Amino acid sequence: MVDSTQRRRLFSRASAALHGISLRAVVQSRPRGPNVTRTSGCDALVVGAGVVGIATALQLQLAGLEVLLLDQNPPASGTSSGNAGAIAISEVLPLADAKTLRKIPGWLFDPMGPLAVRWRHLPTLAPWLSRYLLASRAGSVSKLTQQLAYLLGRTLSDLQPLVVRSGLDGMWRRQGALMVYATQKELRADLEGWKLRGKHGVNWQLCNPEQVYSLEPALSAQWRNAVSITDFSHVEDPYLFTLGLFQQFIAEGGRFEQHPVAALRQQGGKVTGVMLRDGQTIDSSRVIVASGVWSDHFSKPISQNLPLESERGYHLTLPHAQSPLKRYVMNHSESFVVLPMGNGALRLAGTVELASRYAAPDYRRARMLLSKAESMLGTLNTEGMTEWMGNRPSVPETVPVIGPSAKVDQLYFATGHGHLGLTLSATTGAMLRDHIVGKQPIPEEYRPSRY
Ligand SMILES: Cc1cc2nc3c(=O)[nH]c(=O)nc-3n(C[C@H](O)[C@H](O)[C@H](O)COP(=O)(O)OP(=O)(O)OC[C@H]3O[C@@H](n4cnc5c(N)ncnc54)[C@H](O)[C@@H]3O)c2cc1C
Repeated sequence: MVDSTQRRRLFSRASAALHGISLRAVVQSRPRGPNVTRTSGCDALVVGAGVVGIATALQLQLAGLEVLLLDQNPPASGTSSGNAGAIAISEVLPLADAKTLRKIPGWLFDPMGPLAVRWRHLPTLAPWLSRYLLASRAGSVSKLTQQLAYLLGRTLSDLQPLVVRSGLDGMWRRQGALMVYATQKELRADLEGWKLRGKHGVNWQLCNPEQVYSLEPALSAQWRNAVSITDFSHVEDPYLFTLGLFQQFIAEGGRFEQHPVAALRQQGGKVTGVMLRDGQTIDSSRVIVASGVWSDHFSKPISQNLPLESERGYHLTLPHAQSPLKRYVMNHSESFVVLPMGNGALRLAGTVELASRYAAPDYRRARMLLSKAESMLGTLNTEGMTEWMGNRPSVPETVPVIGPSAKVDQLYFATGHGHLGLTLSATTGAMLRDHIVGKQPIPEEYRPSRY
């Protein structure tokens, strides 16, 4: 566990690294202005410093490539800053299946339900929803499950070396997780899914109420129908964790610059770099787009279909909750999670809101999590509580888009990670690394050309 001194040290080392970089960026970006092309001197340019872009940049840098990472904002400040911290290797089942479809109408009519749709967004959303319906057919679900199981099956071995090298082991809690259900009936109805997960290598156990009580005595009696997932783990602060990976990228010789990227540049069907919003261009013989839900800004001009929508999610963080939980708890019935963080803080996170990525947050969706969590844990200390919204970059099939573009040579995409961006970040980077260095090509089913 990371104590407050280590946490402060990590934060200040990251800030110092950032400060140094921004100075260097200013020096390197001269001369500035429109129509000025700058030689990056890099082997790979990554657009987007969320957890996916950072882990990819780090994997490539460690493989000996010179990497330049660009983001319009400081690193780790987007969706990756406020997620629920899970290394959710049990989530091998895609989000679209017949059972979930049956629940959706009920959720939509419940103002406190786990799913909300901003109806104004429906016309834009329609093509994504049609694909979601197609993905929920039985044949498709079983194919997508295998694809997810491959990624999640290698997650820990891809993540472990990055965590150790970045000195983040103390922040990675491996106490497992509990999935709790409101009733025995609901738990039994979900057992088929657990058996299927088991077939794909997930270790799970059914717990009786006494076992749940001995694992997590703070859980109220109503919430003692549970499944325990032993290999599940979480990071106690996703923002500091991502910043720690970023800091390691810099320590390995990687470079970061803060710029909004306006467009890709290409010549003769091959990528040649990027153009920044101020008109300046940076050349690079290889570009990786890891811009979260905004990645389609780069796919549309090259006629690459990427069905990306924002599944917006919310959190509440209670810094003084003095967390009564030892492990991660997922509430299946209410579709949200309770994450024990460092220094006794608790984060309540989840819900899906299908809305424009540019729409203002509706923080009632964050606040509703408090009463749900209090039904599990009793009254919680809300002093200093903060609320947050993030855009999950989601494709309807749940399987992320990782690999080379079929349209433009030496252009790669790493996006569409939905609910699993933190979990699959190191694996995404490892797959791109192995593809780029010619060790192992990325299988077709993950590539953008599947669309
Ligand atoms: C409530 C909630 C809980 C979650 N819980 C979990 C969890 O427990 N475990 C898990 O694995 N995942 C979880 N997720 C999902 C996870 O957070 C995302 O999948 C992940 O953060 C996506 O990372 P990313 O790097 O693709 O995107 P982002 O973090 O959004 O990063 C993209 C970056 O690209 C930059 N960018 C975009 N356009 C441009 C441009 N034109 N020029 C320059 N920069 C640009 C942005 O500024 C941003 O920094 C959760 C998400 C939410 C909302």
